[in-house]
Amino acid sequence: MYICRNVEALEGYTPGEQPKDSGVIKLNTNENPYPPSPKVAAALREFDTARLRLYPDPVFMELRRKLAALHGCSVGQVFIGNGSDETLSLCTRAFAEVGTGSIGYFDPSYSLYPVLADIRGVQRRPVELADDFTWRMPPDYTASLFFLTNPNAPTGMMHDPAVVEAFCRNFDGVVVIDEAYADFADSNCMALAVDPGNRNTVVSRTFSKSFSLAGLRFGYLVGPEPLVEALYKIKDSYNMDMLSQLIGSAALDDLDYVRENAARIRTTRTRFSSELTRRGWTVCPSQTNFVFASPPDGNAAAVFGELKRRRILVRYFPGPRTGRFLRITIGTDDQMDAVLAALG
Ligand code: PMP
Repeated sequence: MYICRNVEALEGYTPGEQPKDSGVIKLNTNENPYPPSPKVAAALREFDTARLRLYPDPVFMELRRKLAALHGCSVGQVFIGNGSDETLSLCTRAFAEVGTGSIGYFDPSYSLYPVLADIRGVQRRPVELADDFTWRMPPDYTASLFFLTNPNAPTGMMHDPAVVEAFCRNFDGVVVIDEAYADFADSNCMALAVDPGNRNTVVSRTFSKSFSLAGLRFGYLVGPEPLVEALYKIKDSYNMDMLSQLIGSAALDDLDYVRENAARIRTTRTRFSSELTRRGWTVCPSQTNFVFASPPDGNAAAVFGELKRRRILVRYFPGPRTGRFLRITIGTDDQMDAVLAALG
């Protein structure tokens, strides 16, 4: 009686498990196995806690300048959120009208999107991927807002940026290209987001994966100024706290470190994927820091349970499309050797 009807009816998002036991090999939430840049630790050590008396910069100008320089755009084209989950949620409020609006996304894809549609009280318009998880758009498809995850999750597969770009240019609505994993991929669509001719497409990124800062909650978005301005209007006054701004800024001063770790993870990914393939697994070609793979007998649930018993945590998504697969985050070489040994 006290709770809004749509909230009462909706099923919330289920995050991956965060076990307290530090002995677990944790490959279930696509975190980075390497620590963040030493510059992050130095910034925290040098931080004067007396500064916490004051409110943080509500529009995080220093960070926006650094991100604008990185992507070759204006500060007015950069928005920063408390994790990209917040940014995605704000996009639903800015770009999908309550009641009449609709939100599209791939099926399967990031399971937060349908929850965001339900919270916003708009129609879900999932686009079913083919059996091999490639993308075909149904004819006459429309939506107010489309979350285009590239590379996709949980499949790890990359959709050709040229195809994505053609789709965005023809789409009559806002497209949010969710590039949470772009730093592990061969290419991305940032050039489209900053193109002066672009009016409807934004690119969303996160510091949770390649920057090893999932604990921080730092996501950002780049796109046309009018769309970005709309997000500033509706955000919480101080959605990025002072420590997040400080650490985010230090991390941006050490991009070589981020790139080196991403390269290491890609090397481990190639080795791990080849070994699974050699053992008869079906492995989706990954451009991310995880692989989506199906054991030879397709009984992913049993393998998930057996790995868990051996204190190796991976992610299993039950269901007709995804239930034959496991999503395994790429950890250190030693961690992946432990997985291979357990599977053996
Ligand atoms: N988008 C995708 C596709 C993701 O997999 C994730 C991680 N769960 C996110 C966004 C959210 O990332 P963040 O930690 O920045 O909220």
